[in-house]
Parts: sequence; structure tokens; C-alpha cells
Amino acid sequence: MSNLVQIGKKPRGPRTGGAGRPRFLPTTREEMTARGWDELDILIVTGDAYVDHPAFGPILVARFLEGRGYKVGVIAQPRWDSPADIARMGRPRLFVGVSAGNLDSMLNKLTAQKKVRSEDQYSPGGRANLRPNRASIVYSNLCRQAFPGLPVVLGGIEASLRRIAHYDYWSDQVRRSILLDAKADLLVFGMGERPAWEIARRLDAGEKVADLADVRGTAHVKKNRRAWEPIAADPSRFVADKKAVVLPSYEEVAKDKEAFARMSRAFQYETNPHNGRPILQPHGDEAVYFNSPALPLSEDEMDGLYDLPFARAPHPSYANEGIPAFETVKHSIVTMRGCFGGCTFCSITEHEGRVIQSRSEASVLREVRELSRSAGFSGVLTDLGGPTANMYKMTCKDERTESACRRLSCVHPGICENLVTDHGPLLSLMRAVRSEKGIKRVFIASGVRYDLADRSPEFIAELARHHTGGQLSVAPEHNDPRVLDKMKKPGIDTYERFAQAFCQASEKAGKQQYLVPYFITGHPGSTLKDTVELALYLKRNNMRPRQVQDFIPTPMAVATTMFYTGLDPLTNEPVYTARDLREKRMMKALVFYWDPQHWPLARQALIEAGRRDLIGHGPNALVPFEGSADRVHAAARSPHPKRGGPPGPRGPRGRGAR
Ligand code: SF4
Repeated sequence: MSNLVQIGKKPRGPRTGGAGRPRFLPTTREEMTARGWDELDILIVTGDAYVDHPAFGPILVARFLEGRGYKVGVIAQPRWDSPADIARMGRPRLFVGVSAGNLDSMLNKLTAQKKVRSEDQYSPGGRANLRPNRASIVYSNLCRQAFPGLPVVLGGIEASLRRIAHYDYWSDQVRRSILLDAKADLLVFGMGERPAWEIARRLDAGEKVADLADVRGTAHVKKNRRAWEPIAADPSRFVADKKAVVLPSYEEVAKDKEAFARMSRAFQYETNPHNGRPILQPHGDEAVYFNSPALPLSEDEMDGLYDLPFARAPHPSYANEGIPAFETVKHSIVTMRGCFGGCTFCSITEHEGRVIQSRSEASVLREVRELSRSAGFSGVLTDLGGPTANMYKMTCKDERTESACRRLSCVHPGICENLVTDHGPLLSLMRAVRSEKGIKRVFIASGVRYDLADRSPEFIAELARHHTGGQLSVAPEHNDPRVLDKMKKPGIDTYERFAQAFCQASEKAGKQQYLVPYFITGHPGSTLKDTVELALYLKRNNMRPRQVQDFIPTPMAVATTMFYTGLDPLTNEPVYTARDLREKRMMKALVFYWDPQHWPLARQALIEAGRRDLIGHGPNALVPFEGSADRVHAAARSPHPKRGGPPGPRGPRGRGAR
């Protein structure tokens, strides 16, 4: 059986639901009956509320499978005290797909300081506690109880980013591959359309789930040593055209940090879909086997996906409660997926892939027209972008070079000479969208990759003139070259060049606009002393950041390996890491040097960093002496500093979501 599936260009099914056809996928028996269905082919269980919008990953896959002709139902945020809720639509014919939702369930619930978040952006009314911790595991277990013997297929970000042995920040433990804890039959990693469709087709054709051991973009468990030890002994014998890579075992990485760093490095080099090899990781007597990543979608395939008949609305059962994440994205358009940046604190590359997959201009315009006809649309598009604002249609110069490439980033330590950084297609798209009938404004709220923008003064000019609503979010993250190198971000001089060009372009456009810079504190490689230097840099440049992210070690990110092991897995060099929560809080307080509520902790940070000289009233002081000055400064605080201001929306595509 071939493991390459072509995704058809044209989905079946009408774009807007068709006359008399329900706009949403069924969520109850009654809704199934309304469609004339007495049985589902596939059930999708998700930890998010059911919002029928392409920004909600499990729904994107559900709609995609429906477009291939399958009867698909959705159960969103089921009760987890018994399997009854999951069983409410009956046993599906082919499989049940399980996802924790758009975010890892632990990241969704807990902050960097391990405090419980008061709101869940993906739940009705922003209510917390509508999904369990480690939702993938809990839901998979419930599905096995509800439908004994039915294939359970695990997917989504939580499964994807916990697919090998990984460090879990919230329990401070190395955990096994989530596939073993969930006891699912298959795990889909990366973007799920292609693997999910192949699984559906082959099960539909009568194959058993145990036969589906060769689907790209999936993993399965080899249950005994006889099944995997020969592969570990001679990886080249068992895969027709490629050698498998054998990672250090779970037991090894759980007790040896060097082995963990080795695992992290080896894994990173297998994420290119064009040359990534199969991976095997032993866990005790069992082993998890990962096929090569799924191939990226072509432009036609991306168009077919986004042309599906999304209702672009939350399910009517939430009539009285908004879904905060939907409010952020409801008037935005996704133009592409993937990122070739390779920032070490971010896992987009591990999930969406490093190959940029873009929609055609015509497809984007079709969605814009549909959106402009929808109720409640005022003519303002809040975002046109993806993981990054300006990687639309950027590719390697040719397929052969890309297929052979083993680099982890196309833009670090410098922009690769083979990368085509032409902003022409993006500029054409921006112009076409803003000249559409019914469109008054088009904002670009996705993060601008300023090292790429640096190559296109025309892009910066149009961004400033037409696509910025007074503030533009950008993420220099730090100013220290050593820290930026650990993040794999460009130097601060590149940010400064962009800031200057943007300010000049804004002036030329007759607009007073500000940059909203984002910074990360507590990232591996960063010390209290260089955070003091960062605060001094901000003060010198009259920057008062409102958005500061306390570094969160999310599963499988390279920076998480640094955090856990104290080693840079890519160089094997030791890396300083702030692990103590108080030290992390102090770092954050320093960057808020201008905000009186952070002054007490910032003073302690300065004392511990040996910089008492920066406490006082002189021109170089970062914070005033303790006392009445705190109140005076609180009253005098300016709401609109030169390059600051309140943050723009950061939706499901923002850094926090990854
Ligand atoms: S050769 Fe350069 S541009 Fe091409 S994939 Fe590799 S790093 Fe990216």
C-alpha cells in the first residue's frame, strides 16, 4: 500500500451548507437525524468548544474529512466522569479522532509561574475547567471504554508535541510518549489532514488498524521486543529506502540529561518532511515507531481545505456565551501555514512544519468576499497572515535543494542564500484584499519577521501606510546577542533598523504609529545580569514594553531541552537557565522597570545582581528608592510611551498558542 495520498482539489459538499442543510457538523443524535444519518463514519472529540472555523484545528480536520465524503460528528468538551457523553452519538463506523484542542491542555490551564489561569480562551464564556488536565489521555481512555475495539487515533498539538519522551514543565518530570499513556492505536503528528484521510480510506477499504503501520505523519506502538529490537540493531534493514533513526530510550533520557539532549538534537534533524527519516524510541519492552513526516500541502490542496463550508461561527448551543479565541480570529484570514524560522522557544516547526504552505490569492479573496457578506462584519479585517506575517509564498530556490537540506532554520544564523525572500506575492495579496468591495481596513496583526522585512522597503511602506492601526506588534525578544543566539533570533540591530524604517514609513504616510515590542524573560542563556542590561537598553530607548512573556518550557521545544538539561542540544555546550520561579519573577519585574507595581521585586533583583547603583533618582536609575516615590510615579505613569502602548490581539496563532 502506498503511503502517499493525493488530496483532491475540490471538496465535496456545498460551500455554505446548501439549501436546508445544517451549517454545523452534528453534535447530537437529533442533529444526526436531521441529516438523515443513523451512524457516523468518524467521530472527532475535542477539548475546545465547537467553533466551526478553520483556526480551530480539530474542526479543520473534521470538515476536511466531511469534504472527502465521510459522515463526521463532533463532541466538544465532553464530560469526563463517564464515557456516556462521548457515546451519545453512537459508535462510529471507522474510528474516533481525539484532540486536546488548539493548545496543550497543561499550557492552557497553567501559567509559567504554575498558577491556574482564570480563563480558558477556547471555552464558552472563557470558563475554566471545561477540559481535564492531559485531555488527550483522558479522552482516549473514555473512547476505549465507550467503543471497545474501535480504532482510536490521537492528534492535535498536545499529541504532536508530546510524541517522543519529553520534559513536562508542570510536573517537572520526563514523561513517556503520550501514545503509550493514551493507549491509542495511532498518533497523528503535524498537520493532520493527509494522515487522517489515509487512515479513513484504508479502514474504509477493510484494512485493520494494525495494518496501518506505514502512514506518513503517524506513530504506532511496537508492543514487544521481537517487533522492534531487530530495527534497533540494524535500522537500515527494515525501511525500504531510508534508515530509521533510533533515539535513546525513555529510560535513558529520564535518568541522563546528556542522553536527553542527544535525543532532542537527533529528533530535530528528522522534521524536514522531504528527508526526515522514520524514528524508533524504545520505552521498556515497547517502542514507539514514527513514520516520516507527512508531505506538505500544495497550493491547490491548501485552497481546497480553506474552501470547505465552514460556518465561521460557534455552535448555536453557545448562544449566550462568546468564545474569546473566536472573537480574536473571527474577522481574520489565514493565508499560509508553517515557519522556517526555527526559534528555539517555539514549536511551530515541530507541528506545522518548516515548509511554507500558502493559499492562492484567488482562494484568499473568495474567503474575504464570503466574510464581507456575513452578518456583523464591519468591513475591518483584523489580520491577514499565519504563524508569521511575511513568509507568504516564500520558498527555497528549488525543490531539490530543499529536499536535501538538513538546516534547522532558513534564517539563522543568517538568511540562507537559497531562500527566496520576495515579498511580491504578499504585496499583491495585500493590495487585492484591501481593494475588495466591502473592505474598509485590513490589519496585519501576525508577527512581522523583521529580518525578512528588512529586504523589502516596499512591504514596510505599505504595512505602515495601510495595514497598521496605530500599533504594530514585533518581537525582538531580547537585546543580548548571546541570548538571541540561544533563541535563534536575529540581532537587535536588525530590529532597530526595522523600527527606524517603520517610523520613517509611518511619518511619510502622515501617521503617528508605535511599535509594540515583545520580550521574553527567563529564556535559557539569560541571567539576572543580562536582564538588567535589557532593562537599561529599554530605558535608554524609551521603550516601556507591556507584553513580557515569562519563558514557558513547552514540550519538545529546543529551548525546553536547554531548560531541563542545562545543555544546548545543538552544540552540547552548557547553558545557564533560571529555574527558580522567584528568579524568573525578578527578571520579568526588571523589564517592567517603569511600572510601580513591579518596583519592589525589581529592587530585589538589582540588589541580587549587584546593581544597587540603579536604584535611586539619578538619570541612570531604573527604579526609585522605596517609599513615597512609588505612589508619585504610579500617578504620573504615561499611558502612551514612544514605542509602547497596550498590546494588540494575540489569538490562537500567537506565540502563547504554540
Ligand atoms: S537550502 Fe536554505 S532556503 Fe533552502 S531549505 Fe535549506 S536553509 Fe532553507
